[in-house]
Parts: sequence; structure tokens; C-alpha cells
Amino acid sequence: MAAFGTNFTSQMVTSSYSAGQWSSLKLEPVQPFALHPATHVLHYASECFEGLKAYRTAAGDIHLFRPDRHVARMQRSAERLLLPIPSEEELLRALHMAVAAASGEIPAYPGALYLRPTLFGTSADIGAAARPADSAVFYVLPSPVGDYFAGGLKPLRVKVDDKAQRSTPSFGEVKTGGNYAAALREVVRAKEELGADQVLFAPGGDVQETGAANFVVIEDSHLLTKPLDGSILPGVTRDCILTLARDAGLTVVERNFTVAELLELAPRAEAALTGTAAVLTPVGELVYNGETVRVGTGEMGPWSTRLREQLCAIQSGTADDPYGWRVPL
Ligand code: PMP
Repeated sequence: MAAFGTNFTSQMVTSSYSAGQWSSLKLEPVQPFALHPATHVLHYASECFEGLKAYRTAAGDIHLFRPDRHVARMQRSAERLLLPIPSEEELLRALHMAVAAASGEIPAYPGALYLRPTLFGTSADIGAAARPADSAVFYVLPSPVGDYFAGGLKPLRVKVDDKAQRSTPSFGEVKTGGNYAAALREVVRAKEELGADQVLFAPGGDVQETGAANFVVIEDSHLLTKPLDGSILPGVTRDCILTLARDAGLTVVERNFTVAELLELAPRAEAALTGTAAVLTPVGELVYNGETVRVGTGEMGPWSTRLREQLCAIQSGTADDPYGWRVPL
């Protein structure tokens, strides 16, 4: 299977916005867009996106996983960027259309069809730094993905960075390319210099999230994670894990915590990243100021194992779905 995100189905769903109206959704071949050199997004980053999955169960049924949450988040991102906002119904319809068109190309679980809804400003106007785009394109690009953990679920080595920032205090909740651009150099450096798999951004000591996943710590029947205060992405997987944790008897604590507190907890804690791609991936080591601190035993702990298995069972269709997270095609 090709690397995550490099393999696409043959068709995508598109719609465009101009003169105050969205065009009807269209299924068309995955092909390049022709863009004027002055296109708004190329200069002013008027862009937002989502990432969610559709699964095929062993029985052959197809479902989308919590599409309503992803649609709502995309609408909030678009609003913050002053992009035209497709309606909830159109966004959901576009997702269903994209999955239906690719229904023969959805890899069996633990593979999935990853969906990338994207919205960008297309006005040809380089004077528009102070004006929102008045035209836009929306599309859903489907990408069949294999098992992200085909090589086994190996606990990650994560650099804790208390200097770098992946976003600004109020923009972190927006799923826009600029936030990923801001984080990229730190993630690449951490890999090159420390062999780290990811960076945990903790500007000024405030433990936030990694480049592409939320962060949770579990210790002594408590699950600790940063609250949704605008500075981090409100992860859909984070919400699933918090829900499963509460129902499994953990006390969920959403509060700010510092790097010092994290390092103090680490030897007797479990820590994990949560996200659509990562699902729940354990953290085995933290690297801070050049020193490596082991998290718990360094292996995947019992709570992480249990919560991950529960979420995977709901996603794969092998367990009931008491929360209504699966939306059948
Ligand atoms: N934080 C960031 C910065 C992300 O890119 C992602 C992946 N979308 C997440 C958290 C996790 O979000 P979700 O669980 O909705 O995929």
C-alpha cells in the first residue's frame, strides 16, 4: 500500500462558489485545477480542510465515522477565515457522494477510505489581503488508506518543545494549512536531530497538542488533557476517547497543565496521541531539553490498550455503537 495520503480514487466531488451561490455538487475525475496566478489562496492562505474516514465492515457495510462533527468543524474554520460556507446538508451530501462513488475501492478494516474535504478562496485578486475571497472551490478528495500500524503499534518518541508555537492562541482551533506550515520546521528538525516521531507543542510550558494529533495523559484513574480554549484543534477522536474514558470509569480532567507537571507524572503515567490517522497511539518517551524521560513502562499501558480497542471495535463494526458515531452510507 502506498504511503498515507498519496493514493487517490478516480473521482472527486466538487462545487464552486461565485456571485453569492454554490453550484450543485458534481462528481468529476480527480484532475488538476487551473488557477490564475493571482488566486487568493496562493497569496493569503484562504484555505481550510477536514480529514475523516469511511469504513467497510467485515459484513460489507459501509459507514462514515462522525461526519457531523467534521462538517461542523469545517464550517467553523470557514467562518473564521471569511470563506463562503457550504450548508451542513451540502457538506454531508458531498461526503456521501464521494464515498458512494468509491464504494468499490474501500480497503477492508483496518484500512479505510480517508476523505479530505477542502475549501479555498479563488478570487484573482492580489490586492485582497484586506478583502475576503468572493469566489471559492470546495471538493472532497477520497484516498484509500491501509493499516497505519502495519508495522505494529510502536510507542512514539515525542519531543516536548516549550518554545515553538504551532499556531496563535485563538487560531489553533482552525483547521487551516497555515497552522501546519508553522509547525512543519519543528517537526522535521525534531526527527532529524532527536529521532523523534512528533513534537508536543508547549509554548511557555503550556502543554497543548502535537503537529497532527491531540495529547492525553492517564494517571491514577484520571485522564488529563488541555481544555478546548481555541488554541488547539477540537479533535473528533479526542471527543471519542474522552467519552469512552468517562464510561469506563476514568475521571476526565480538562485543564491546563505544564511541562514540569507532565515530566513529574510521566514515570507513573500513560500518554497518547489521538487523531483520525493516529486513532490512539501510545507515547513511550518524551524528550525535553535533550533528556529522555520514559512514560510509564515505555510500552503501551492498560488504559491506552483498552480505550484504543474500544474505539477500533466501534469503527470496524465489531462492537455496538451506543453513541451513534457510525453513519451508514
Ligand atoms: N490536532 C491537530 C493539529 C490535527 O491535525 C488533528 C488531525 N485532524 C488532530 C488534532 C486530531 O483531530 P481528529 O481527531 O478530529 O482527527
